Amino acid sequence: MEEMKVLIRNATVRMPCARSVVHCLSRKRKISAANWCCRHIKYRTRCCSASLPLAQKTEEAPINLDEGKGGAASIVGSLSQYLLKGCTPWHEAPSCPDYVGPVEVARTPDGRGRGLFATQDVHAGTLLLISNPMAISYDDPHRIMLLSKLVTMAAKDPLFLRKLHSLAHTQSSQHRLEVPSMDFLTSDSSDYMYSEEVVDPEPFDPARIMDIIMLNSFEGEYKTGKEESRLCALYLLPSLINHSCHRNASRLIVGGAMIIHAATDIRKGEEITITYVSTVAPLQRRQKSSLSMKFGFTCKCKRCRVEESLQNSLRDVSELYCDLHDKAADEVHMAMCSQRSPPPESSFATVLQLRNVFDTVCEKVFADKGLSELEKRWVLAGYSSAYLGKWLVSGYASHFSNVPVLLDQKVVEVVKALRATVPGLVHTLSLTTFILGITQRLESKEELAKEVFMLGMAECAGAYGNQKSDVMLKLMEKSTEVIPFF
Ligand SMILES: [Zn+2]
Repeated sequence: MEEMKVLIRNATVRMPCARSVVHCLSRKRKISAANWCCRHIKYRTRCCSASLPLAQKTEEAPINLDEGKGGAASIVGSLSQYLLKGCTPWHEAPSCPDYVGPVEVARTPDGRGRGLFATQDVHAGTLLLISNPMAISYDDPHRIMLLSKLVTMAAKDPLFLRKLHSLAHTQSSQHRLEVPSMDFLTSDSSDYMYSEEVVDPEPFDPARIMDIIMLNSFEGEYKTGKEESRLCALYLLPSLINHSCHRNASRLIVGGAMIIHAATDIRKGEEITITYVSTVAPLQRRQKSSLSMKFGFTCKCKRCRVEESLQNSLRDVSELYCDLHDKAADEVHMAMCSQRSPPPESSFATVLQLRNVFDTVCEKVFADKGLSELEKRWVLAGYSSAYLGKWLVSGYASHFSNVPVLLDQKVVEVVKALRATVPGLVHTLSLTTFILGITQRLESKEELAKEVFMLGMAECAGAYGNQKSDVMLKLMEKSTEVIPFF
């Protein structure tokens, strides 16, 4: 059971992959910490359960699926059950046939290359895409098996080779490659078996295929037994989805299939974006991340540009934040694993320093009249770990006895900042569920409890797609197994 909980957590939060997230806690540490957490959140879970009446009043979320395309509607039910079981076991994952929702591939207007765009207005939680891998390998750190599988298939199937060649093998090749039609991308080899158009003028070159793998493949963790394993996979359509530090879509890995949901409302013509690496960090840290090292580009999304414009005023505090963050993560880990209940607040000296940094950023951002509310949230989301750390410390260290002090509006603003920046994140859902548990204890916080509940439901839909409200509620409860510290 535990292994797939970890997998789904990785799939939704850590964005498994070569496009993986830089996490402050190692995987092993995170599991231990999560186990500690599970033993100490019973009170909070009970509070969360008290939200059932609210949930029952909520209409069931609509399932916006075109049942004619791949029978995807039938997936939602089995996917719900699988999610509720903690996504275990791996080999019992529901079959997820390929599905293409209201999206199309087009050239980006700003010259970045190609991207995936919405063909109609969609609401948060809408299923956009299900894509099975072109090839998948396990425990294949150098991707040799993946290469071997792709080379074998490409050698005997010209359409497969042509699809492979439609993916970039270098960043610069993005601009030279044609925009493939959706018919081509979703075609079956049998449809083209005797067609001359599948004959690719490009020579068969394993080195190029390896370059395609290095630039486009995804990695993730899973467990088949007690041991951790890693999978590596190459997907066709998902490889055309660009990165943004303020994404609007989230992804799940179920079995080997990648499922992309709208994590927020998306307008017709808007580009669908995901995060290749963790973006819950200041610009300085994001720029040093594997995004530039591995993928060879520096993000220039709107959020990055906003933060660039603030670099002079935030430089000192940003450097201090980055210095403190990893140290604080170690403190949280050590305290969580100490088996003492609760850990003394002195265990978290660096976390408390981080909170001061966050307050400084708040002052600077709110004093800047040139920033929109959205832009302020983008900036704050990068420093939110500090506040989450402090909130976590206070929550555990005080045995929840200091509830009114914990519950200031700022922690709700942190949730809103994360939702505005990285919607569909299980860490945010976890934090929201914790807050909900506390607000529901307090009569004076009834309105706040409703607000937090709706935030949680929206975050749940962003992370897992539209589900029935009872499923959403259970998923919210399960989210408390994740420590809300990035
Ligand atoms: Zn960016």
